[in-house]
Amino acid sequence: MEDIMITSGTSFEGYEISEYGPYRFVQTILSSNFLKEIGSSIADIATDRSSIYQEKLDGAMNEAIKSFKEMAGKTKYNAVVGFHTNVVDYSSNITSVVAAGTLVSIKKEYQSEFEKSVFVRKELYVNNYYDKLVPRAVKIVLASEGKGTRISAWFNNYNMEDIKAIKADIKFTNIYGDEITLTGVDFVFDKTGQSLLKSDYIECKLPDKYIKIISSSKVYIQKYVTSRGVYSCGDDPIDVDLSPLKFKALKMKKGLDAVCNYKSDGLVWTCNCGHVNEGGAEECVICSRKQDEMKNTVSFNYEPMIEEMRQKEYVMEIKDVLMKHIKDIDSGLRMQLLEIMESGLQYEKTRGNMKDTVIEKVENLFLGL
Ligand SMILES: [Zn+2]
Repeated sequence: MEDIMITSGTSFEGYEISEYGPYRFVQTILSSNFLKEIGSSIADIATDRSSIYQEKLDGAMNEAIKSFKEMAGKTKYNAVVGFHTNVVDYSSNITSVVAAGTLVSIKKEYQSEFEKSVFVRKELYVNNYYDKLVPRAVKIVLASEGKGTRISAWFNNYNMEDIKAIKADIKFTNIYGDEITLTGVDFVFDKTGQSLLKSDYIECKLPDKYIKIISSSKVYIQKYVTSRGVYSCGDDPIDVDLSPLKFKALKMKKGLDAVCNYKSDGLVWTCNCGHVNEGGAEECVICSRKQDEMKNTVSFNYEPMIEEMRQKEYVMEIKDVLMKHIKDIDSGLRMQLLEIMESGLQYEKTRGNMKDTVIEKVENLFLGL
């Protein structure tokens, strides 16, 4: 006979209940002499008799539990929950002990390492944008708890519109450079009319194993719905042209909707949101960023110097380029530039070519990132 597990509670640690059976009870009738032997009224029960009573009762209880287990052992169930015992006094001299509980089937919970490690979450910045007043996808969040993947998209809502839903294709690129596209995904929003819209999580067909190897995402908006009507988005989006490192630095410094660095040629200026504004415009037509606040305070024209650095191979040569220009560079930046060169030289001795890293750091410094 399988050992029957019994609890007065509703569950067993480390086990799950796979099936609930019937509520059952077993009754053990005590001899009609039971009370006679120890006196007929509780008032008569002196200390010594009380212990006899307890002894008798314990014996009866154990008997009841034993028969309950035997009864349960003959069924297909292997455990009992909500188990309890009761002493019942009938009229005349009959007393019985009742053991009762619900029969259940239990099995050990599956707890492999794999099961414990299934929770995956990934947040990706969106690597393309529309240069119009459409909701701008800024982030894709993928999450899985081992039972299918869910997706949520965050949109910058420049116009604070009452956007109810957005239909879009989502293109993912993985670390091998392979692409996978989810078409016609319907994002809906709990709260609308806010500057950042976070969609509800919806199920998506992406295998959860795939989430870990995704490296970037692009969003192609087809349609969106506001209280005023349905709008379609016929434009082609613009791809972000920044390294992942620089893109992240830009987002951290300039906001989730930022997609490029400020630049100006006098006639027009490009905003952090990507929109190209007339030279005379004080603030951006799309995002209202002020040109003055975006303008770089660095007066040194660094781009030709960086171009010269790119022609070199090693940090030692890049440092030579810097030294050629250093007296023209804003004094506040000189120390940091020299530090970048020194650490680059150190790393290059042990870790191989540091050219790209050093140039990226120099560029970020001039961009204020
Ligand atoms: Zn802007």
